[in-house]
Amino acid sequence: MNTLVVAETQSGRLRGTTLSTVRFAQEVAEKTGSPWSAVVIGHHNIAEVAERVASFGPAKVYTVTGEVFEHCLAGTYTAVVAKVVQRYGFQVVAAASSTTGRDFMPRLAARLGAGMVTGVCAWEPRDGSIVYRRKVFSGEVIATVELSSSLHALTIDATEFGDPTPGEKAEVVAFDLGELETYRARFVELRSQQSARPDLTEADVVVSFGRGVKDPANIANVEKFADALGAALGGTRAVVDSGWMPNDLQVGQTGKQVAPKLYFALGLSGSIQHVAGIRGARKIVAINKDPEAPIFQVADIGLVADMQTALPEMLESLNG
Ligand SMILES: Cc1cc2nc3c(=O)[nH]c(=O)nc-3n(C[C@H](O)[C@H](O)[C@H](O)COP(=O)(O)OP(=O)(O)OC[C@H]3O[C@@H](n4cnc5c(N)ncnc54)[C@H](O)[C@@H]3O)c2cc1C
Repeated sequence: MNTLVVAETQSGRLRGTTLSTVRFAQEVAEKTGSPWSAVVIGHHNIAEVAERVASFGPAKVYTVTGEVFEHCLAGTYTAVVAKVVQRYGFQVVAAASSTTGRDFMPRLAARLGAGMVTGVCAWEPRDGSIVYRRKVFSGEVIATVELSSSLHALTIDATEFGDPTPGEKAEVVAFDLGELETYRARFVELRSQQSARPDLTEADVVVSFGRGVKDPANIANVEKFADALGAALGGTRAVVDSGWMPNDLQVGQTGKQVAPKLYFALGLSGSIQHVAGIRGARKIVAINKDPEAPIFQVADIGLVADMQTALPEMLESLNG
């Protein structure tokens, strides 16, 4: 199954969420004996990003550059990736299950008549094709999906496949787009939260809090704790709905999926919708005053305590 990875770039660098997709493509190549390639689309620093992807051992890395590709728009990405897929006859096209991947991949699938699976977390070869597994009901149930189309369009869980292994350096070639389509949408402006903290989806350490914070005035201590660890800040939907946190910092099924090395869950119950977003975390530390809180079922380290008391003590030992 000849696979094309659509590498995601942001501000001229490869997004960490693509790494799991690259590892998926490597696995498919190893087990089915077919090659994989990648396409890197963007404006700034694309050569450098392409070199990095090339170091993971694909057959080829195609680059598509131009001002119009600086920001991902579903229409432009669909048009470009469709051309690459059609020109080289890929059988599988895969991108990270990120906001970008989930935006353009369904459109691409519709345009090319491909069957689609979102959030692929595992796969296995079957009868010369591939069957995929994806989590449903917040990861409580795993569905097995078989596609009857000749082209498979996939978004890949951003954490399940881990990091790619280095491989033989591939050739990087500029893809000739030919005549440009008239794109019906253009990028105007991005308004995002400005923060000196790391990106929630790529941080090594994430500090999240829930309704147990009790009062917005107590958030300052959580922020100090996060900053002392160089961590990203996140929260539950309950605190977002209370207006205590911007919604782009919500972690969970309807928020961000995170995969840090260390995840702090402070004063949050551990609802299945929240836990769905932290399954990729390597170690979970929970502080909750209720010893029966469900978060303790998934935590590696648990502290039954009032977070308002525990946090200043932890800060003191960090700073002192
Ligand atoms: C379709 C759908 C999608 C959803 N998507 C998401 C999502 O993406 N992300 C998400 O987070 N939620 C999501 N939710 C909401 C989810 O069901 C929960 O309501 C929410 O996660 C609860 O947030 P919480 O843990 O902050 O609050 P609560 O459930 O109220 O828990 C607060 C916790 O704090 C503890 N606590 C209280 N005081 C203290 C203290 N002083 N010190 C320490 N601990 C204390 C309590 O013991 C309790 O366990 C979704 C719900 C639905 C229906």
